[in-house]
Amino acid sequence: MLEIVPFTLGPAQTNAYLVADSETKESAVIDPAWDGQVILAEAQKRGWRIAHLWYTHAHFDHIGGAAAIADALNPLPLVALHPNDHVLWRAGGGGALFGFDIDPGPEPTIDFHQGQILRLGSAGFEVRFTPGHTSGHCIFYVPASGVCFCGDLIFAGSVGRTDLPGASWEQLAESIKTQVFTLPDETRLLSGHGPETTVGEEKMSNPFVSDL
Ligand SMILES: [Zn+2]
Ligand SMILES: [Zn+2]
Repeated sequence: MLEIVPFTLGPAQTNAYLVADSETKESAVIDPAWDGQVILAEAQKRGWRIAHLWYTHAHFDHIGGAAAIADALNPLPLVALHPNDHVLWRAGGGGALFGFDIDPGPEPTIDFHQGQILRLGSAGFEVRFTPGHTSGHCIFYVPASGVCFCGDLIFAGSVGRTDLPGASWEQLAESIKTQVFTLPDETRLLSGHGPETTVGEEKMSNPFVSDL
């Protein structure tokens, strides 16, 4: 069974998700936002081994805790990111614009692509490529659990900003329409910021995208 432990960390109050298969105790961190030692301590308390770091996108507030997690692990976790966000990753996640100079941690060595299945014990995460907020943004859908980790694509009542370098409102709207609004209405959306919501709730009441 998939277990999910959420955290809200760092200067942008970013949600990080520690996820694990309860049988194998293999775990991944989706967006190790900040304060990696906090996420690491929780994994250790539960006897989970962090084997993967999966990034919805490379903004600094979603990767700022990666170095602290990786520094404490041997073997190193495998880091996965869409190739379109590698430039942003190398630029420290754009933190300089906001006055943050982060250590981005180990280099991503696994490239996400549309339709890829990420395995964590018996759980399967489907990668959906959702550019718009950044050019390499991806979300991770777990059909068996009815949850989707959607980063900064869509939030409860809002959407990811499209005023930063590499962003596009047209792409963001298209990504939400084709990759989120095609999921079952009851699917839980676990976003990069703010509370969780569902596909049905956002289709009905999100003022930015309810007319898609
Ligand atoms: Zn972002
Ligand atoms: Zn964010």
